[in-house]
Amino acid sequence: GSTLKIKDLHVEIEGNEIIKGFNLEINGGEIHAIMGPNGTGKSTLASAIMGHPSYEITKGSVELDGEDVLEMEVDERARAGMFLAMQYPSEVTGVTTSDFLRTSMNANREEGDQIPLMKFIKKMDKQMETLDMDEAFSTRYLNEGFSGGEKKRNEILQLLMLEPKIAILDEVDSGLDIDALKVVSKGVNSMRSDDFGCLIITHYQRLLNYIEPDYVHVIMQGRIVKSGDASLAQRLENEGYDWIKEELGIED
Ligand code: ADP
Ligand code: MG
Ligand code: MG
Repeated sequence: GSTLKIKDLHVEIEGNEIIKGFNLEINGGEIHAIMGPNGTGKSTLASAIMGHPSYEITKGSVELDGEDVLEMEVDERARAGMFLAMQYPSEVTGVTTSDFLRTSMNANREEGDQIPLMKFIKKMDKQMETLDMDEAFSTRYLNEGFSGGEKKRNEILQLLMLEPKIAILDEVDSGLDIDALKVVSKGVNSMRSDDFGCLIITHYQRLLNYIEPDYVHVIMQGRIVKSGDASLAQRLENEGYDWIKEELGIED
């Protein structure tokens, strides 16, 4: 499996430091969850790691199997095996879901190693079945008129098709009803293997009832302030974050 190492990461937006010394190592076979109150830098962390231009990394390092991720262009990060599901997936006009998927997969492959059409279709059919997606979905234009749940399913379909080494999923659960949540979870769980490491960012504990994390981390004020196993998420669900703030002497 692969290893993503985030060391002493500091990230600024418009001169404000949002991430303030973030450390985490994710190995293949591991599912980590990051939880935290709103506005503590969860999405900033995800966007910065994937190379969003609005986020300035002022200090620290991110390495995938020893390679400097921060030196890579965004598409190179994807090619190296990283995947980021966006909190707000955008609409892409005039491209079908199926075309988009095949283009993305081929972009990650060498020129002489493009995925044969039949192989692609077979794989897509299989994964759409895993996600209880209607066949017609693949010929619809990407994200155009997709419901919130459909967008999320589509993101997870991308995950299953691209088979990244490391995935960062930012709030894939937001706005999902219980059935969609189960489907999304089933998709992520089907990826579980030593070749896949995952960072799940979520505001709510609910998702973690279906995708059981190996590690749970709490982020506050731009850094991890507490780590534990799945029982930590349960405690946060029951008691909120105040007890951690008290432990740390954080006021806000
Ligand atoms: P979370 O995902 O944990 O809710 P975010 O990473 O979205 O938190 O936001 C962290 C902080 O950064 C917040 O105080 C937010 O207001 C600020 N922030 C996020 N995006 C921007 C931006 N584009 N410009 C200025 N401030 C931002
Ligand atoms: Mg938020
Ligand atoms: Mg967020």
